[in-house]
Amino acid sequence: MIKALRGTYDILPPETTLWQKVEQKTRELFGSYGYGEIRTPIFERTELFTRSIGEATDIVEKEMYTFQDRKGRSCSLRPEATACVVRACLEHKLLNQQGKIHKFFYIGPMFRYDRPQAGRQRQFNQVGVELFGSYSPLADAEVITMMVRFFELLGLKNVSVNINSLGDKESVENYKDELKKFIQPKLGELCPDCNRRFEKNILRLLDCKVPSCKEIFSSPEMPVITNSLSDVSREHYKAVLSALKDVNVNFVEDSGLVRGLDYYTETIFEITHNSIGAQSALGGGGRYNNLVKEIGGSATGAVGFAIGIERLILALKQLDIPEEDQKEIIYLVSFDEAAIRENLVFADELRKKGLTAITGYQKLSVKAQMRQANNIGAKFVVMRGEDERAQESVKVKNMETGEEKITPVQNLADEFI
Ligand code: AMP
Repeated sequence: MIKALRGTYDILPPETTLWQKVEQKTRELFGSYGYGEIRTPIFERTELFTRSIGEATDIVEKEMYTFQDRKGRSCSLRPEATACVVRACLEHKLLNQQGKIHKFFYIGPMFRYDRPQAGRQRQFNQVGVELFGSYSPLADAEVITMMVRFFELLGLKNVSVNINSLGDKESVENYKDELKKFIQPKLGELCPDCNRRFEKNILRLLDCKVPSCKEIFSSPEMPVITNSLSDVSREHYKAVLSALKDVNVNFVEDSGLVRGLDYYTETIFEITHNSIGAQSALGGGGRYNNLVKEIGGSATGAVGFAIGIERLILALKQLDIPEEDQKEIIYLVSFDEAAIRENLVFADELRKKGLTAITGYQKLSVKAQMRQANNIGAKFVVMRGEDERAQESVKVKNMETGEEKITPVQNLADEFI
């Protein structure tokens, strides 16, 4: 038997209903903040990701699905969408007008060759947003608020918002110098990956999961990034936190928070929920003021986030959210061959009126058909024997009350509306 590849999953009904709900709420809520949906291809030139996410990140070093197309071009399945959205904006010259704000949301699959486990897949889905054209801390605060409100709208009330600031280029360079001074004498105690990252991209050291390295990084002498912020970045960060307080969004400042992508500047944030186990991050994001320029555009203030839908669904499944009103199902039972064909027509009429009608396609015993009606949770069963046919009518049984009623065929739909 051919099975799905490791780290990939099928999403089957009825769980798909939950996915549809997430997608519907995305459109509803993000739309109310002025975001429009963008859909970009799921594969791009590899260079787009190496230049944006960073050569020395886990994603680019070991997690990308990269292949050559028939013309020998290096392509990669998208591991995230921010770079793709920036590429699309530049290609369509959307960011040329000074002062104009552009807001996009996306929903779709991403691909990372990660070690599969609960909450970590190789094909997973994200819903995310990107806002272009503002350097204002209020944009950061609004984006974070929107993320929190999104979880609330879905019924997840007690998410935690962790926030930190990397600052601008100057701040990051200051911090890197501090970090170098602290780490240099300890290189012998750090893992080979950390030693390599020390040379290539020292900030990525903070992503290391090796316990002995983590212990060194949690020592009290470890430099704290927010202490290296320039005055401008410090003001920006303060203004973000103060705006979050204005809208009553609770947050925790976490100076150890770094994100696994190189393009972030200033504010970064992550939202977690304790119900989903070790992979507790539902989503994260931040500001990326240098990315548009790095990909070939002019300097543009930008901020965004991405939420992992699989993890969100995991969290939602733990909630006792009452099912939304299901449509009432009408099951059409056939007593004979003629009825099977008649039911095809009756069901068509019912569906044209917006009703949900299910029929069988082959002759089964009435008992077997009633069992099927029960299995699918039909509220009504419609039957038609010789007597009813002679009177141009049908018998309608309410499966909840057991009540039966004879109804003329031409009024059938009215019984259910
Ligand atoms: P990132 O793009 O790494 O900032 O991730 C944003 C969110 O996407 C995370 O918080 C997760 O919810 C989700 N995510 C990232 N990688 C995976 C994965 N391999 N499997 C499932 N969800 C993921």
